[in-house]
Parts: sequence; structure tokens; C-alpha cells
Amino acid sequence: MSDYNWCHGTNCHTQQTQSRVRGSGTNKVLRTIKIKVDSEYIRQSIFSHFCNQRCLMDFLNVHKDRIVALAPRREALETPIKVVKEKYESYRYEHNNNGDYERMPYQATRTTIKSVDNDNG
Ligand SMILES: [Zn+2]
Repeated sequence: MSDYNWCHGTNCHTQQTQSRVRGSGTNKVLRTIKIKVDSEYIRQSIFSHFCNQRCLMDFLNVHKDRIVALAPRREALETPIKVVKEKYESYRYEHNNNGDYERMPYQATRTTIKSVDNDNG
């Protein structure tokens, strides 16, 4: 198993960064980034195949149809939740007639999405 991957970004070799410059004299090129795969962390990561977010997105944009065909989604998935609304005392600052700010209390509403434990109904 190799200890590096070439970045799969479709335009990696066109990005003008010093880290991509290879060759000498008048024979210089921009080369695809070589990604060192030297830890379990990087091995598990999508970034073991892409040197940065731009290269990942370039690849996804070019190959999106084939990628989604790997696991097509033909209907929406749903997660049961409980939406809890609760009122609480908060405050905001408002201009008063003296040109100052004044701390004004008001009744705020907090909406929280809570998971539903399906085992307990
Ligand atoms: Zn890249």
C-alpha cells in the first residue's frame, strides 16, 4: 500500500502555488499535489485524496452524476423530532431620547429541536 496519493482534484495541477512548482530552469511545471498518507486520521479522511476543499469540490462537480448514482436517493428521509417552544426573559438595547442606549427587557421565545427516543414511543 502506497504511503501517498495524488490529489484527485481535476484542476489541482493548474493552481498557481509555489508548492506545485516542479522542474528546473525553463522546464518548470505545476504538478498535482502529492498527499502523504501517514496516519490513520488522514487515511480515514476524504482529504487523503484531495489536497484542499477546492480540489474536492472540483472533483464533485465534474463527477456528481456518477457519485450520486452510487447511492441514489429517490425519496426523502425523515427523523422524528419534538419541537419545544419556551418563553424566557431577555433584553435588548434601544436608543432613548438622551442619545444613549437603554437596556429593555422583553419576552423572547426559544425554539429547540429535540430528538425523540423511538424505543420509548
Ligand atoms: Zn489538489
